[in-house]
Amino acid sequence: MVAHVVVIGAGVYGSSVAAALARRGARVTVVDAGAPAGGTSGATFSWTNSCGKQPRSYHDLNVTGMEAHRRLAADVPHGDWYHETGNLEWAAAEADREALSGKVATVLAYGYEARWLDRAEALALEPDLDPAALPEDGIAYFPREGWVEPTRLVAHLLAAAVAAGAEVVRDDAVTGLEVTGGGVRAVRLASGRRLTTDAVVDCAGPQAARIAALAGLALPMRNTRGVLVYTSPVAVAVSRVVHAPQVHLRPDGGGRLLLHTPDVDGAAHVSDTGAVTVDQAAVDVVVEAGRALYPGARGMTAESVRVGERPIPADGLPVLGRVAELPNFHFAVSHSGATLSLHAGGLVAAEVLGEDRDDALAPFRFERTAVH
Ligand SMILES: Cc1cc2nc3c(=O)[nH]c(=O)nc-3n(C[C@H](O)[C@H](O)[C@H](O)COP(=O)(O)OP(=O)(O)OC[C@H]3O[C@@H](n4cnc5c(N)ncnc54)[C@H](O)[C@@H]3O)c2cc1C
Repeated sequence: MVAHVVVIGAGVYGSSVAAALARRGARVTVVDAGAPAGGTSGATFSWTNSCGKQPRSYHDLNVTGMEAHRRLAADVPHGDWYHETGNLEWAAAEADREALSGKVATVLAYGYEARWLDRAEALALEPDLDPAALPEDGIAYFPREGWVEPTRLVAHLLAAAVAAGAEVVRDDAVTGLEVTGGGVRAVRLASGRRLTTDAVVDCAGPQAARIAALAGLALPMRNTRGVLVYTSPVAVAVSRVVHAPQVHLRPDGGGRLLLHTPDVDGAAHVSDTGAVTVDQAAVDVVVEAGRALYPGARGMTAESVRVGERPIPADGLPVLGRVAELPNFHFAVSHSGATLSLHAGGLVAAEVLGEDRDDALAPFRFERTAVH
């Protein structure tokens, strides 16, 4: 019987796993080295989507992730952290237009909602866009996509876990795992605290490989950093996620926009002490690209800049579920966690408690990552 589960990390994955475990009656301790949502989940574009996810099993997992957000937001009074407002996307270069056409054709064949808009139709949805910035046609629209506010989601999930009896330990890093007799028996924290346990779930995001190493497991990761620019409030109507050739953006509450340009992700630098800086010129390029899209946002400035580290397993796919050689050690690690974690965390929690009914996690197991 699983009496006590230690969940390592309190981002979107850890909070989702913890809430699902506690709801099922398990005793849960969630441990975070810092503050809940202080990791990648606090520095993410958090677009909920499945328009470019391959292979099919991964696409389907993302679709189910989006459905889980829809259900939770509908179930919780004031659960307004989820914004299913749609996503507009267009391309400039010929090769990019062809890639977008291919992407739309693929997801339509999967039964995913997508359609093509012309300029007038796009402006009917986003009237403050500069018409000159839009092509005459060939604007892809994915109406079921949107974004989630991860910090508010984490707060809700942890509150639900605590209400069901979970303990949240913050500002105390996991520094050791005691592994004997083919299982993890205890978790050691920097404070000196020792938590005896029946199971652990590694939800440490970009640090997941370090936690795995404490249990003698090698998790290959290829994390990357992304630069996110949060603007000053501007009185322009932006309701959807917009993927334009020079900048991606979405609303971020209180009239602010969140801007991201993949081309400038390399402008983030990390010093030997771990201090993160971003070249100001790169931030200016991102803000200028946002202003060029919305003439009404001419006065917009960068209010803050955050750098997030994407937790990306080496083959790009999630690592989820029980480890065969250490059966009370479980992973819940992926990129696209804003989309996936609510659903995937629930699947992992069910498996921890032996309540999994089908093998939905089969394509995403740790064992496939072994270097042969
Ligand atoms: C720039 C950028 C854009 C993104 N865009 C999207 C997007 O549009 N859509 C999407 O779905 N996803 C997106 N993602 C990915 C998504 O944000 C992540 O997959 C998700 O936030 C990961 O959540 P997590 O809970 O696994 O990790 P985290 O939020 O990082 O949580 C892990 C936690 O573990 C804790 N921890 C680490 N080590 C220890 C330790 N030793 N002891 C205790 N605690 C520890 C950390 O403090 C942290 O709080 C993006 C990411 C980035 C960086």
